[in-house]
Amino acid sequence: MNSLGRAPGSQASLRAANRGRVLEALDRHGPLTQVEIAAATGLSAASVSNLVRDLVADREVETSRAVRNGRRAALVAPVGGRGVVAGVAFGDRDVRLALGTGPRDLRSRVRLPLPPDHVADEGLSRAARLVSDMLDSTGTARTDLRAVALGLPAPVDSVSGHVGSEAILPGWRGVAAARELETALGVPVVLDNTANLAAQGELVCGALVGVRHGCHLKTSHGIGAGIVLDGRVHRGSAGTAGEIGHVTIDENGPVCRCGNRGCLDTFVGSSALSSAVAVTHGHLALRDLVARALAGDPGCRRVVTDAGRHIGVAVAGVVNLLNPERVSIGGTLARTGDLLLDPIREGVERCAIPSAAASVEIVPGSLGEDADVVGAMAVAAERASTTRPA
Ligand SMILES: [Zn+2]
Repeated sequence: MNSLGRAPGSQASLRAANRGRVLEALDRHGPLTQVEIAAATGLSAASVSNLVRDLVADREVETSRAVRNGRRAALVAPVGGRGVVAGVAFGDRDVRLALGTGPRDLRSRVRLPLPPDHVADEGLSRAARLVSDMLDSTGTARTDLRAVALGLPAPVDSVSGHVGSEAILPGWRGVAAARELETALGVPVVLDNTANLAAQGELVCGALVGVRHGCHLKTSHGIGAGIVLDGRVHRGSAGTAGEIGHVTIDENGPVCRCGNRGCLDTFVGSSALSSAVAVTHGHLALRDLVARALAGDPGCRRVVTDAGRHIGVAVAGVVNLLNPERVSIGGTLARTGDLLLDPIREGVERCAIPSAAASVEIVPGSLGEDADVVGAMAVAAERASTTRPA
């Protein structure tokens, strides 16, 4: 038996593992300050400081001066960079893109409006062109692009790589979206649902940071949820978990675009909200309805409050099933703040088991409507880190 007790190798292997954690955090999030590395890895500030000093000496990472949250800070990044990644998030009426080294380092962002019911071919070729334009405008070589994450506002079957319900996004019927974009750009493309990506964004650098069990709701043209279990976004067996918009809340309710009856979406989707005020306001786009509610229009405020009540009932179901510690609410409708959130909180208090309702907080998302693009950057950076040359 070794009389010295602890084997001399154990310190070295712990140190190697901690170095790996720091490098992995940089791969996942892009350049970080030492404080951010400590938060991302759970290592102490002193350990991070020592590890970064060693990694700089070994030419594995380098530091540069930058401004972070209005203050001067030293950013730590891998030497020579690990290349860039792109996030692409399709909405029902637009596509938003970002390019950078990770979710905290978006060097370029673009938004392009799209016609309603846009078709996949057009959308994908525009996205590919916009990624190329962003590479050019940031002076980045095409060969530096490592991976892309592509988000669609519909259930996505991660096994087949197709949209999981063709009725919800008919213009994308039968299209292997990830493979087509991969062919156009020549890099790996990860396909996901935008609600999952929004949850990923809030989890990595928004309202769900540090949350083990949580949920993020994306309230836009339709409503979707991304579920966080054990600190990771839970995608289910085929990638379609979190379809809260198609949970039945009235079996005899109106027929939904998915073919079912009385889904949450038929009560709180943008078409339902617009119809509710059509007699007094004519056709209102969701953004206009939200703007009028914020300006004090009584009819629009009432419609948002009613939507909050319906969403609250569905969220109470999530709270009963998963016992989350925090639920964040994002997307276009969430711009109305407590007008939407208060009735959701009331719904959870009324309909969820008291102990589960008492242990959950309902908060606004902190990344606004770009949570899905930020999440796409995180997913793409993670994909890039698994394929980069050693
Ligand atoms: Zn439905």
